[in-house]
Amino acid sequence: MPETSLKVTLLAHSPDIEKLCAMAARTCYSAMHLEQLEAWAEEKDPASFLANVLSSGHLSVLEHASFTFFVEGVSRSLLAQLTRHRIASFSVQSQRYVSMEGGFDYILPPAIRELGEEAAAEYRRQMETCARWYREWQEKLGGGPKANEDARFVLPNACETRITLTMNCRELLHFFSLRTCSRAQWEIRALAEKMLSECKKAAPSLFEHAGPGCVRGACPEGKRSCGKAQEVRAHIAAL
Ligand SMILES: Cc1cc2nc3c(=O)[nH]c(=O)nc-3n(C[C@H](O)[C@H](O)[C@H](O)COP(=O)(O)OP(=O)(O)OC[C@H]3O[C@@H](n4cnc5c(N)ncnc54)[C@H](O)[C@@H]3O)c2cc1C
Repeated sequence: MPETSLKVTLLAHSPDIEKLCAMAARTCYSAMHLEQLEAWAEEKDPASFLANVLSSGHLSVLEHASFTFFVEGVSRSLLAQLTRHRIASFSVQSQRYVSMEGGFDYILPPAIRELGEEAAAEYRRQMETCARWYREWQEKLGGGPKANEDARFVLPNACETRITLTMNCRELLHFFSLRTCSRAQWEIRALAEKMLSECKKAAPSLFEHAGPGCVRGACPEGKRSCGKAQEVRAHIAAL
């Protein structure tokens, strides 16, 4: 059974994100018809108009644009954290309809890998044991989706899952502020960083200041602060 690792693919995003959100914001403050709004957006720099609107906290205009990602090589442990974000849409590989009887791919945490080859080998054996338990239960339960439903109870959190996920830009900014912070767990932080990197390419002005709180000012984490704001800022800027 192979180890696997994080892969994030941007499947789609709204076209002309900055223009779209700027037009949405302009709708609120002007009597212009659509054609006039479009002409205005062509003439003006939508990014700077948008920056002004956002600085006043008018973030709902960002809900009109969204990004869809395909995420592979992540654990069920990551899934539990990711799906706590309620303003997002998820389609997740099912452990009922997808049988693991041929084994499953899994995530090896870097800290275990760093313990050395012996530790990594022990971890791999444990994964094989879970796969054997799964097959045993599946057989005892008669096979098929109904058996998968209960046999999966012995699968580990390390088991790989695949997810199609969609978030609008407001939720993405919120997600990045929580999950690119060094307080976030390593796996979801790695995912958030890859997503942020894609978002920056598609809508640079909108995601310019995205990231943990310390990217925009003082660290909001108080006693739990990592104390490495400068390092974190440089790391996020380089994504
Ligand atoms: C470092 C870290 C540690 C964590 N540890 C734990 C833990 O130990 N145990 C645990 O259970 N969770 C934990 N979490 C998860 C955390 O509690 C949140 O569930 C998760 O981060 C989603 O955040 P959210 O609710 O702000 O975001 P979303 O669900 O993405 O919602 C976005 C925003 O929409 C608004 N919103 C959404 N739904 C509602 C609602 N029903 N009512 C009012 N406003 C709403 C809020 O303003 C919210 O911030 C942890 C998260 C982090 C980042």
